[in-house]
Amino acid sequence: MSVLITNIQRFCLHDGPGIRTTVFLKGCNLNCPWCCNPENISSYIQNYYDKEKCIAENGVCICGECSFADRINSAEKLAMLSEDDIKRCFPKALGSYGKFYETQELVTELLKDKDYFRNGGGVTFSGGEPLLQFDNLIPVIDELHNNNINICVETALFVDDSIIKKSLEYIDYYIVDLKVLDRCECKKILDVDIDKYISNIELLINNNKRISLRHPVISGYTDSDSNKISIKEFVNKYKGRIIDYTELDEHHLGDRKRKSLG
Ligand code: SF4
Ligand code: SF4
Repeated sequence: MSVLITNIQRFCLHDGPGIRTTVFLKGCNLNCPWCCNPENISSYIQNYYDKEKCIAENGVCICGECSFADRINSAEKLAMLSEDDIKRCFPKALGSYGKFYETQELVTELLKDKDYFRNGGGVTFSGGEPLLQFDNLIPVIDELHNNNINICVETALFVDDSIIKKSLEYIDYYIVDLKVLDRCECKKILDVDIDKYISNIELLINNNKRISLRHPVISGYTDSDSNKISIKEFVNKYKGRIIDYTELDEHHLGDRKRKSLG
């Protein structure tokens, strides 16, 4: 079984308890306008062109015969890049987001960090929506649990409840987004049904799972007075059942990656 990943980030201190290694999985069923990992939304491998790394001047590159410089401005053109085009680009302005890892290959990579996990740390699966590849993650998680490694997921929770039910025996800690609680706004901004989120989080709570809630405060989307009130009520309702609630400030770290995708 294989898992499609864009990045393995080591020594993470804010992705769950202790020191963690975070694995970013590709594929998400949402498309949040503020997404800081837009390269993880599509569930396919995608080419990119990072203009800021490109060393061409007036369309001429010293790397060789690249005919793409300054002309790559759409996802369609990026899809036409060949492996040779990417290899030739030594400044790595051209590249691909996404690589398939077989179970053992990923486990071996993650076990390299085992010594860092001693004081309650572990592996966090993030994304994208990591639960969309959950079936393929199970053998990886089994191997990590055999090595006493704690497993956390960062999820938006808008997935089928069958996946949540299945995840209960495998996931030790859930970091859950809390975005837009109003039914109409949730449909308008995210095109999803808030009932799915509510029933999934209740499933986690009723099964005594360890949960941290995170609310991204995004101007024009999640920061309305009515949303703030709904979130406050929601957090109060589950006080004592969730470990913590954190507000995340708006930033624009995803902009360069979004542009690089055309
Ligand atoms: S090979 Fe790379 S650096 Fe050179 S022009 Fe093409 S994209 Fe830019
Ligand atoms: S749920 Fe997360 S990964 Fe998916 S689009 Fe929204 S911010 Fe991006």
